[in-house]
Amino acid sequence: MDTFDTIIVGAGSAASVVAARLAEDGKRSLCVLEAGPPDTNPYIRIPAGFMKTLFDPSVTWQFKTEASEHIAGRQLPLVQGRTLGGSSAVNGGLIVRGQPIDFDTWAERGNPGWGYADVLPYFKRFENRMDGNGYKGDEGYRGCEGALPVTIQPFPDELCEAFMDTAAACGMPRNPDYNGRVQLGTGRYQTAILDGKRVSAAKAFLKPAVARGKVDLRTNAQVTRIRFEGKRAVGVDYIDAGGQTRSLNARNGVVVSAGVINSPKLLQLSGIGPASLLQQHGIAVVHDLPAVGEGLRDHYSPRVVFRAKGADSINNHMGAFKLGIQFLKWLTGQPSFLGLSPGICHAFGKTDPSLPVPDFTFIFAPASWKLGAVGVMDDFPGMTCGVWRQRPESTGYVRITSNDARAMPLVNPMYMSHAEDRRILIAALKIARKLFATQPIARYVEMETLPGPQVQSDDEWLDFARRFGGTSYHPVGSCRMGQASDPFTVVGPDLKVHGVEGLHVVDSSVMPTIPSANTYAASLMIGEKGSDLILGKPPLPRAQL
Ligand SMILES: Cc1cc2nc3c(=O)[nH]c(=O)nc-3n(C[C@H](O)[C@H](O)[C@H](O)COP(=O)(O)OP(=O)(O)OC[C@H]3O[C@@H](n4cnc5c(N)ncnc54)[C@H](O)[C@@H]3O)c2cc1C
Repeated sequence: MDTFDTIIVGAGSAASVVAARLAEDGKRSLCVLEAGPPDTNPYIRIPAGFMKTLFDPSVTWQFKTEASEHIAGRQLPLVQGRTLGGSSAVNGGLIVRGQPIDFDTWAERGNPGWGYADVLPYFKRFENRMDGNGYKGDEGYRGCEGALPVTIQPFPDELCEAFMDTAAACGMPRNPDYNGRVQLGTGRYQTAILDGKRVSAAKAFLKPAVARGKVDLRTNAQVTRIRFEGKRAVGVDYIDAGGQTRSLNARNGVVVSAGVINSPKLLQLSGIGPASLLQQHGIAVVHDLPAVGEGLRDHYSPRVVFRAKGADSINNHMGAFKLGIQFLKWLTGQPSFLGLSPGICHAFGKTDPSLPVPDFTFIFAPASWKLGAVGVMDDFPGMTCGVWRQRPESTGYVRITSNDARAMPLVNPMYMSHAEDRRILIAALKIARKLFATQPIARYVEMETLPGPQVQSDDEWLDFARRFGGTSYHPVGSCRMGQASDPFTVVGPDLKVHGVEGLHVVDSSVMPTIPSANTYAASLMIGEKGSDLILGKPPLPRAQL
């Protein structure tokens, strides 16, 4: 049986950073096990290729949420990446950190060292903020020596400009850098896209370390169990590409970075979780830890859609011939729709002007899909504005359904189960409608197609939100970080799993609450800080703000 110092489970966003930093340290042997295949699927490099990979089970875990009365009895797809780079290989690539209060809340919840001033240096460490026009942002907030390019896509577009001008007229001023001093306002999204090509976490961090011969990377290797001696993690079992079960030993420990659904699932399969759930499935309890899998949160997002007039939308460029032209442009490095992420512009605003910070996000694209869900594009020019509450309070769970690692777990973020989530979402949806009735965007609106003018009362808005909302693909919090005395937590602020030895969780699952942002940047930050914690390094000096 092969033995390594450290075994990392998953080769996703956070794992890629951890592997790179541990390899850089050079003092330990490393093995990274990824359940999915290598990232050779051609749609991965094309940012707009997410429309294909989203439905492709060869590179994604096709999870579904449990049916829930809060969303009109529906089950919703909750796809996660399953290849090198994990979700960063299939995501929108938007880089949004969140507000200082998000991380200060983490620190207040028993996590010293995770406040905004503590984590800002780690956000800076992974990025290389670059723009064609030379604007790199305020250096107190932005990094330019990291491996991940953070750019703004060159995409001159009349509808985008009109959206941002209108948002500014509605109290969300143009903001050149929402990842800087202030989040409030409108502008273009920053992305991990360089010259129209996606730069996943695997490309930026993991593969250079593998190329230097510092990491033994095994793909098509799904870890089925962490092995323990007493309460110490000493290795893992995994199924290889041929379906054979193999075992590896870990001298120093195991790092679980399998993502928000698979990390708690693997802990549960390995005997760490709520004792009653484990016993129900015949799993020997290594450590009774009731919070494993609990606390799942996500941004639930209904979308308002408008039929456009007087300007081109991306819908006008569909069809084999036109797409072929876009592909040729993309291939030869010219600006192309294929090099764009699904969201182009943002507006961060407040449902109540007296609030100190924004509480909703609008994500705008000059494109629209049938019934507002990414899939088939409308056959008329359209624009879409996704709407979500930034810090939803509804929490749900991930629970195994069997002791067979191949079985899908129960996944339920309990969308809209909290009354405040419903109230704020309705208020934000109404603000979105008002925005599209304001100039200059109003002159491009032919009609509102979703929800449509028949929806007027709060009850009608709620009914629409329940029936048409979907995930924003930001689930977090199923292995929350906090003090061992807090029964709602799984790992400590050092990311070690409570009650056992030699086991860390380092990924989006440890977030104690959801940030007011898309969750990729925070997952990379957790990878950066987590690697220092694993290496026993002192934290980077706190930012002086
Ligand atoms: C479609 C989509 C669009 C998104 N868009 C954005 C966006 O534009 N901006 C943004 O900020 N966020 C976005 N997100 C969210 C963001 O990508 C995630 O929050 C982040 O990447 C999570 O990182 P992670 O390290 O926790 O997990 P992941 O990156 O998902 O990595 C987990 C890895 O572990 C592997 N794995 C799982 N189980 C096992 C096992 N048992 N054995 C071995 N390997 C295993 C998985 O296959 C995967 O490769 C999006 C997500 C998706 C899915």
